[in-house]
Amino acid sequence: MQINEDLIRNVVAQVLAEVGRAPISSNGQNGRARRGYAGRHGVFTCVNEAVAAAREAFEQLSQRTLEDRMRIIGHIRRISIDQCVELGTMEMEETKIGRLEHKIEKLKTLGERSPGVEFLATRKEVFSGDYGLAVIEHGPFGVIGAITPVTHSLPTITGNAVSMIAAGNTVVVNPHPSGRRVAAEGVRRFNEAIHRDVGIDNLICVIAEPTLESAEGIFKHRDINLICVTGGPAVARAALNSGKRAVVAGPGNPPVVVDETADLDRAARCIIRGASYDNNLLCIAEKEVFVVASVFDAMMKAMERAGAVRLNAGEVDKLTRAAIVQVGEGDHKHDVPAKEFLGQDAAVLARAAGKNISDDVELIFGETDGDNPFVPVEQMMPFVPFVRVHDVDEAIAKAKEAEHGFRHTSIIHSNNVRNMTRMGRELDTTLFVKNGPCMASLGLGGEGYLSFSIAGPTGEGVTTPLTFTRERRCSLIEDLYILGKRDPNEVPHESQT
Ligand code: NAD
Repeated sequence: MQINEDLIRNVVAQVLAEVGRAPISSNGQNGRARRGYAGRHGVFTCVNEAVAAAREAFEQLSQRTLEDRMRIIGHIRRISIDQCVELGTMEMEETKIGRLEHKIEKLKTLGERSPGVEFLATRKEVFSGDYGLAVIEHGPFGVIGAITPVTHSLPTITGNAVSMIAAGNTVVVNPHPSGRRVAAEGVRRFNEAIHRDVGIDNLICVIAEPTLESAEGIFKHRDINLICVTGGPAVARAALNSGKRAVVAGPGNPPVVVDETADLDRAARCIIRGASYDNNLLCIAEKEVFVVASVFDAMMKAMERAGAVRLNAGEVDKLTRAAIVQVGEGDHKHDVPAKEFLGQDAAVLARAAGKNISDDVELIFGETDGDNPFVPVEQMMPFVPFVRVHDVDEAIAKAKEAEHGFRHTSIIHSNNVRNMTRMGRELDTTLFVKNGPCMASLGLGGEGYLSFSIAGPTGEGVTTPLTFTRERRCSLIEDLYILGKRDPNEVPHESQT
């Protein structure tokens, strides 16, 4: 009789799980099969369902080993690398901004170079002494709510997923509406492979039809333990006002300073490489350049030698009128890049300026004064304004103003260590590059690791798995203390290893 009742209960539970009713708890077989949302592969239209599925996946992941996390991340990495051409092309066709070869490269490099489980081992803190042992551990937050930008829709999700899962979390993503299809397809592929191999589905959940309301739904959901947003000023503000702990990877407007000691040809090559990458969509990309007067003309020639095309004053004016527009009313009126030029090729911008150039040209540039809107606006298109300044003091002061206090990224080309140090101190940006292109700061042609979420406003810097962990202290108390053979008020001798 008892056996029959158990059998019936099991069958009912399985049927309910398969039709998507309330989640059924683990059957102890590595979490396989009997789960309410298994088979959805992370794609949801309803925020509540997505969060419930991610919570269920989190509970399953919590029962698994670090080795399992490595296997899970291995699938994300493999798909990112092996399918970079197909997924990169999909992203380019959907968003219609940037450059195809860079869309592909971003996915491939993230697969190869984003920090994973091994990163957790870089921070081992142990205290041992007369009173015993204390070990600092890094535990997961739970379910993270992530908002991702159109500039790197799938790459941001990929990097976030690797870091967050490496740390033991799961994630619900509200992607930018203009990159939602590639976001959903990438997430579906990741989950399908992970589910097939490891038996857990929905470690990464995505809202297939994202809106500001669904973002708000994630911000406010009681089962979301942490928020991570990557985007411009509006979403950064929204996350900081959400009432939840937030990791905010906000906007940038990276200035470049070129002083009289710089290697100008090297500086020109670096500026072209950084500012033209994915048609200037990177938040770390060179957006305006301040050059000291004594080398200004030589620097402009170096840019031309390195392959960039210079616009004259009339052409710069024409482009400015077409590519920068005003939005908002009254006190809220401000300049923004015109949508139709965002992430477009240099040749498209040149045509708007009244100039025909070859499709191969990666970057156009021109002299402007400091008041030209291209200087304060984060243009995200491959035209860079060059401003002539009296000396390095003025260059650093103007660079600071153009950066708006975002403390995101700044760059200097110089062989004067004092100038480098002064600029580093003055701007105090999260990334500061000397004598290289912007991407060197993310480990591409420089040291370090790669992530496309750089948390300036909240201070976490280039995000890693550790960013998405809570610190826990695990204490083991020495017998002598417990048995009362030591004075508990005595200052212990402690050593740190
Ligand atoms: P965006 O701010 O328009 O959108 C980013 C995301 O936020 C999208 O998913 C969008 O739907 C959402 N969003 C916008 N306003 C919102 C609100 N009020 N509430 C909730 N969600 C909201 O930016 P974008 O054009 O997609 O991306 C470019 C911006 O992102 C640039 O400013 C760039 O500097 C920044 N960015 C920063 C980093 C970084 O690591 N710091 C990385 C990439 C991009």
